[in-house]
Amino acid sequence: MSLVDSALVRLLPAVPKPVVRRISSRYIAGEELDDALRVVRLLNDRGKLATIDVLGEEIAEPEEARAIAGAYEEAFGAIQRGKLDSNVSIKPTALGLKLGYELFRQNLTEVVEDAASRGNFVRIDMEDSSTTDDTLRLYRELRAAGHDNVGVVLQARLKRTLADIRELAELTPNVRLCKGIYLERPEIAYRDFDSIRASFVQALEALLDAGSYVGIATHDEWLVEQGQRLVSERGLGRDDYEFQMLLGVRPSLGDELVSGGHRLRIYTPFGRHWYAYSLRRLQENPKIAGYIAADTVNRLIPGRNGSA
Ligand SMILES: Cc1cc2nc3c(=O)[nH]c(=O)nc-3n(C[C@H](O)[C@H](O)[C@H](O)COP(=O)(O)OP(=O)(O)OC[C@H]3O[C@@H](n4cnc5c(N)ncnc54)[C@H](O)[C@@H]3O)c2cc1C
Repeated sequence: MSLVDSALVRLLPAVPKPVVRRISSRYIAGEELDDALRVVRLLNDRGKLATIDVLGEEIAEPEEARAIAGAYEEAFGAIQRGKLDSNVSIKPTALGLKLGYELFRQNLTEVVEDAASRGNFVRIDMEDSSTTDDTLRLYRELRAAGHDNVGVVLQARLKRTLADIRELAELTPNVRLCKGIYLERPEIAYRDFDSIRASFVQALEALLDAGSYVGIATHDEWLVEQGQRLVSERGLGRDDYEFQMLLGVRPSLGDELVSGGHRLRIYTPFGRHWYAYSLRRLQENPKIAGYIAADTVNRLIPGRNGSA
């Protein structure tokens, strides 16, 4: 990232919301379920699977968490009616974790049961390290209660991840492995690029050796290559693992995976609570300065690029 880009990343929270919204629109399907369904259909038509995320991590009241659980149930109904190939991803705080474990447990259990009744699957996203224990605890409780249509996320950035894999191994967990977006303290997390990459490869090897179905979630070309190498060395078939990417990020790399015969799932967020998610995506965009500059030019010279 250039110096200008890294300076802008620090200033992003000061950028006016309408600007953030315009330049982050590529990362979000829209505000309504219908927007997400339209995007999922397009992805499916191009041979890609999807996972729908109802944006909602800024919720403050139990009723809002309840409403988000309801929105997921609505999504499952629409996926089934539309014969779409999509599961869902859920942030624990969107279902109320910050308001209480019990609320989170009730909401997530209900959504997982609804998914099971329709033959669908729930991925529990992983948020910052203050939520890791509770998230893994509820995952274990759900599995102990016989719910197998649920998976978790582990973050290569966290030093505890290999130990978590060892502890979860008896469950042969379905795991999305990612680098981890949340900046954590150096005591508990790797901070430099190469250590995070090395930890990702180690964790992926450990998961595959434990027989887990892994969602290899990265846009890092080197890690994508390592992923392909590791699954091929183990003789895994197309249905034994998948790659995962975020909507709007490196679609051409995703196209290459699909034409190479791999399963690829695209994380497709929608909803009105778009701000926190958008900030995180923009902070990871190595060309953020270019996007802000282009947005400014587009506003100063209306009609450029054919827009009114
Ligand atoms: C499907 C999916 C689900 C995820 N779920 C979680 C989760 O539950 N918890 C969690 O903590 N994190 C999650 N993440 C985020 C993840 O942890 C990383 O922060 C993110 O994927 C960037 O890391 P990377 O592996 O792509 O490598 P990077 O080195 O960050 O990126 C590799 C290259 O991809 C491109 N790129 C990456 N991000 C962007 C962007 N926003 N805009 C434009 N180009 C970009 C750049 O060219 C960059 O050089 C998820 C990621 C994916 C793909």
